[in-house]
Amino acid sequence: MMYADSHVHTAFSSDGKDPVSAVTAEAERKGLCYLATTDHLDYDLKFGHNRSPIPWKHIDLAAYRRAWEEGADALAKKGSPLKFRFGIEAGFSPEKQVQDKYLELFDRMRFDVVINSVHFVNGWDVYFPNAFFFKSRRRMYGDYLDLVLQSLDAPYHYDIVAHIGYVTRNAPYKKKVLEYADFPDKFDAILHGIIERGKALEVNTHTTLFPTEEILRKYYAYGGRKLSFGSDSHHAELCKDYQKTVALLKEIGFTEFTVFERGVNGESSETAIPF
Ligand SMILES: [Zn+2]
Ligand SMILES: [Zn+2]
Repeated sequence: MMYADSHVHTAFSSDGKDPVSAVTAEAERKGLCYLATTDHLDYDLKFGHNRSPIPWKHIDLAAYRRAWEEGADALAKKGSPLKFRFGIEAGFSPEKQVQDKYLELFDRMRFDVVINSVHFVNGWDVYFPNAFFFKSRRRMYGDYLDLVLQSLDAPYHYDIVAHIGYVTRNAPYKKKVLEYADFPDKFDAILHGIIERGKALEVNTHTTLFPTEEILRKYYAYGGRKLSFGSDSHHAELCKDYQKTVALLKEIGFTEFTVFERGVNGESSETAIPF
């Protein structure tokens, strides 16, 4: 089986632990054919109205690029077959000033892969309990899905729609799971929207499986075939639950993951990694 991981954090993320060298070493040890580091870029916090309840260290993009280049050079020197690519996880905000900043940056800095992520609802990161204060399950989950749908129309380049269902991760509700039946119209719009735009739906194994099996089955039924695997590793847990996840995806009917990179002229290209 070929292993590929398109969503991995390093110490350049505020919540990441590993230097780039530790991540590439683990990728080689596990025999990955493709690895992209995708540290957090939070322009929604930096230039928008989103707020973090804890101090947040913004990424030093120049240092991140240097560390990635050093890692790529070291791999090339020893003739490693690992395709090591330079990515970013861009925190979505519907605010124009935030989107303009991403546009400006992505013009200057060509990432191999851009992950489009919704982390904030009503201005607060849903990782933290304060985002849920005085908010009903229906309101929070509905607002979250509305943002995911809006994020599909981000005016800048992106490849992957990340971890649909993230809002449920630390949600305080008795019924935590977000089901298709809760918001069929919103889910349909999102899944069809991903397919129409030719984007990849991420299969994220960091905690529980995002999206859930039920949503993955809907995506397949609607004709969605493009999937990206993301362990979302913050401390060297590359390809977490890979075999188990692939077994489930195969059973649904999927046959491959898709990985992204940029060519010499900056054009985006994708490659299928068969299961
Ligand atoms: Zn994320
Ligand atoms: Zn992430």
